[in-house]
Amino acid sequence: MSATGIGAAVRRKEDQRFITGKGHYTDDVNRPGQCCAYFLRSPHAHARIKAVDCAAAAKMPGVLAVLTGAELAGDKIGNLICGWMITSKDGTQMKMAPHPALAHGKANHVGDAVAVIVAETLAQAKDAAEKVSVDYEPLPAVTDPGKAQTEGAPQIHEIAARNTIYQWHLGDQKAAEAAFKAAHHVTRLDFINNRLAPNAIEPRAAIGEYDAGTDGLTLWNTTQNPHVARLVISAFVGIAPEHKLRVIAPDVGGGFGSKIFIYPEEVVCLWAARRIGRPVKWVSDRSEAFLTDAHGRDHVTHAEMAFDADSKVTGLRVKTIANLGAYMSTFSSSVPTYLYGTLLSGQYDIPAIYCEVDAVYTNTVPVDAYRGAGRPEATFVVERLIEVGAREIGMDPADLRKKNFIKTFPHQTPVIMNYDAGDYHASLKKALEIADYSGFGKRKRESACGIAPSQAVGSLGCGVGLWESAEVRVNPTGSVEVLTGCHQHGQGHETTFAQVVAERLGIPIDNVSVVHGDTDKVQFGMGTYGSRSGAVGISAIVKALDKIEIKAKKVAAHLMEAAEGDIVFQDGKFTVAGTDKSAAWGDVTLNAYIAHKFVGEELEPGLKEGAFYDPVNFTFPAGCHICEVEVDPQTGDSEIVAWTAVDDFGTVINPMIVEGQVHGGIAQGVGQALLESVIYDKEYDHDEIALESPRHQGLRGSGRDRGAGGRHQRHHGCDRDRGFGDACDRTDGVAGIAEGQQQTPSGIGATTMYAFTQHRPATVRQAASLLAKEEEAKLLAGGHTLIPTMKLRLAGPKHIVDLSKVEGLTGIEMTGRSLIIGAMTPHVEVATSQVVKENIPALADLAGKIGDPAVRHRGTIGGSIANNDPNADYPAGVLGLGATIVTNKRRIHADEFFKGMFETALEPDEIITKVQFPKVNKAAYVKFPNPASRYALVGVFVSKRSSEVRVAVTGAGASGVFRVPTFEEALKKRFGAKSLEGLTIPADGMASDIHGSAEYRAHLVGVLARRAVAAAVG
Ligand SMILES: Cc1cc2nc3c(=O)[nH]c(=O)nc-3n(C[C@H](O)[C@H](O)[C@H](O)COP(=O)(O)OP(=O)(O)OC[C@H]3O[C@@H](n4cnc5c(N)ncnc54)[C@H](O)[C@@H]3O)c2cc1C
Repeated sequence: MSATGIGAAVRRKEDQRFITGKGHYTDDVNRPGQCCAYFLRSPHAHARIKAVDCAAAAKMPGVLAVLTGAELAGDKIGNLICGWMITSKDGTQMKMAPHPALAHGKANHVGDAVAVIVAETLAQAKDAAEKVSVDYEPLPAVTDPGKAQTEGAPQIHEIAARNTIYQWHLGDQKAAEAAFKAAHHVTRLDFINNRLAPNAIEPRAAIGEYDAGTDGLTLWNTTQNPHVARLVISAFVGIAPEHKLRVIAPDVGGGFGSKIFIYPEEVVCLWAARRIGRPVKWVSDRSEAFLTDAHGRDHVTHAEMAFDADSKVTGLRVKTIANLGAYMSTFSSSVPTYLYGTLLSGQYDIPAIYCEVDAVYTNTVPVDAYRGAGRPEATFVVERLIEVGAREIGMDPADLRKKNFIKTFPHQTPVIMNYDAGDYHASLKKALEIADYSGFGKRKRESACGIAPSQAVGSLGCGVGLWESAEVRVNPTGSVEVLTGCHQHGQGHETTFAQVVAERLGIPIDNVSVVHGDTDKVQFGMGTYGSRSGAVGISAIVKALDKIEIKAKKVAAHLMEAAEGDIVFQDGKFTVAGTDKSAAWGDVTLNAYIAHKFVGEELEPGLKEGAFYDPVNFTFPAGCHICEVEVDPQTGDSEIVAWTAVDDFGTVINPMIVEGQVHGGIAQGVGQALLESVIYDKEYDHDEIALESPRHQGLRGSGRDRGAGGRHQRHHGCDRDRGFGDACDRTDGVAGIAEGQQQTPSGIGATTMYAFTQHRPATVRQAASLLAKEEEAKLLAGGHTLIPTMKLRLAGPKHIVDLSKVEGLTGIEMTGRSLIIGAMTPHVEVATSQVVKENIPALADLAGKIGDPAVRHRGTIGGSIANNDPNADYPAGVLGLGATIVTNKRRIHADEFFKGMFETALEPDEIITKVQFPKVNKAAYVKFPNPASRYALVGVFVSKRSSEVRVAVTGAGASGVFRVPTFEEALKKRFGAKSLEGLTIPADGMASDIHGSAEYRAHLVGVLARRAVAAAVG
């Protein structure tokens, strides 16, 4: 191994540009005359589009075109397609419903694009979108895959009765039945593989450009496979013939599958560019990405595993309903079938397997391949069954695995796959050793994944081959350009591919460059997904390098006047066997281009070779991960305390990159298991997306002006600034604030850009008079709630009274037995203040638990209390300590201050100036944080001062922070955790949302209160 060759932990060549901000992404591309596209999206999960009136929007400033599905159909632009045909068990073909790039006649999911507005600027396009009037007739919707096939469920597409796309099966049903009949033990499980929304760092983007001179189109696109995009867009959507369409995927910031597919926006940008005669750019924002990037997983499964008396697995039966969403995305049909059913044998010798998959349409975002695509789902099924089976049988799960591992290879599974090689026992043994398995209880998972050979997938219905191509161009000076059909979007191909070439040719890695992502440069390729780039893409390069070596040897033979068969090539040097003659790599490459030195008929000039590599089988790398998790039995809180990963990678080209890939895979697995889930409202006819993300629960449903927007304040002018920067400019001045989305009558995502005036008073008096004078004025403290709320259009103040320059609002001091904290004091100062730590340490502890460092540095105690978010921490501390809120007008005791969710006793022109906390004997705060935002799912603050005991709860109450008199009474008698034993609070009146039910919250109040008292007692 050389310092940069195969096996070396070479630092990624591409990182130089990425970490210095020199990456060139689609949004960095700006074409002359470029204009912007904005998509108006359906706010309904399912609705008939009775009419779309674009007349008013078309007259808005800067608008170049407002296009709808009608125009798209009129121009005969074809539908998007799914490229993998699945045949149902009754022999019928899958029911692929039309998927127009702009919905026509009916919208089938929230976010379905209904119109595109193209304007000179994005802001103008957004403004115009407000004026598009869509007459929707909302229809009943179904989002749950389990319900989609039921009698009476709303039918989404005419072609698919009971929303069923296909009913597929694999394996031997009779053999499986026999195994279950004879079984000694059967393990049965029902589970849901939760829906995931991909979140690449770079959101999707597209630029379409039409060249009237050549009648050619160019698409810059965030795609994982530009050639497939070109093929589908030309051959099926019919925008342009393949040779007239160039697709360029510049740097792409992450994909994980979500950028494999052909999306409506790409088609629309190309189509609109030709209609308008100008380049059209679209860049997704994050909210749009949640509504439009193909989601992952979403399986409902019943699975059974049969064991004989010797604990050998004898059979597996799996029935899965796979949610494919509102339309069939490019490869969606293959994910729950050939990428799932075929992997159900896992690492086990299972003689009989039978798998049935029903794929269904629902009114949700389309689902397609997402990191691992089908294989994680299969692994989850098999490993859960083994794990639970072991417990039921009373056997160590590791021993059950060992007993059932496939031990001889090649191994033909009952579900198509033929495994070439593996040593599963070795990975497990190693992992058990490293994880010190005998020392603790654990859970483990194994995985198998592979790449896709054309013959195998072709026979399974795939519409494209899955080989890969490479071209190696050697320049006269000996430097090398490698053109590959793979595409990198974070994998580090520019380094690993170069390492292989550098080692093989004996040249410095810096003399190798890797070219990819442009259909005009690389003839054809299949892109990057499904763990294929190393196994297939590099293999194609190696094949091309073989040809290069053969040709170079011919040139060397000519140069050294030797027989071609005598030429030896090693370490970048050509030698003539048995002589001291040699020629350096550079001599040979140069001579390859000096044509007069050899006769053209014998040897063509140049040194350039291409190869296509199509493997005969999948690869089956295997591994074993052991994750040790500590679960708090009282709260369900879980913590990963150790992770052991043993993977059989084969030849490792760059260990550093491999480790990075493993880390990324683990992070995504943990994300799915513990943090991520896309949940749709169960209510038909008004589905909305609710993701586990900061502060979603507070924003759902109510539609009322919440928290930061709740109080109308008035005031009087002084040092006037406009917006953030310059709000006079409606577009730029407020861009940082007003790029939110709202659901308007015309569609989701339509945004009103609005101007506001920012005032910076110097005194509380000035601030108060500004509040009194100006209509719809609002105070700004840290802005950590107000600004996101404005972005989401839940508040729209016309005047912002910024308190940052007001004197005397910060600071912490002890006055007698009172701790005084200025309203503008940021959380970090309270958390770290020696005065607070010495006098009321529980308060410092509370402040240190708020959000993340950014939140703690910006958020203020005054803003937090005034906002009275039902999940905020300070309200619990303020109420739990019986503090007094001091305003410009009066003093308000905590018991009188918090009036309900986002409601306080503050009057419209009242300003909190400080908070006064009494010193207490004992106090503690314990919270169960929402893992994403760190807001309190439930938090309990307890304090004892002389005979007064206070227990305040945040997060749990449906109307915000509250005290628990029953607990306080019990604690008054004796201040100890034992006093609370057996005491509970009713679930009635508790909040209930995707993060926790009312019952769970009520339970947590009891648990956390006991813990808080125990902590206070010390
Ligand atoms: C990602 C994220 C995570 C968070 N996590 C947590 C968490 O774990 N726990 C938690 O408790 N909080 C959390 N927060 C909230 C944060 O801690 C702030 O306390 C909160 O955003 C409000 O404080 P602010 O200073 O930013 O107020 P702003 O956003 O500026 O204002 C909020 C509201 O209070 C009003 N207001 C501000 N100051 C005064 C005043 N002096 N008198 C009268 N009215 C006033 C404003 O007009 C506005 O209506 C989180 C916030 C974010 C963005």
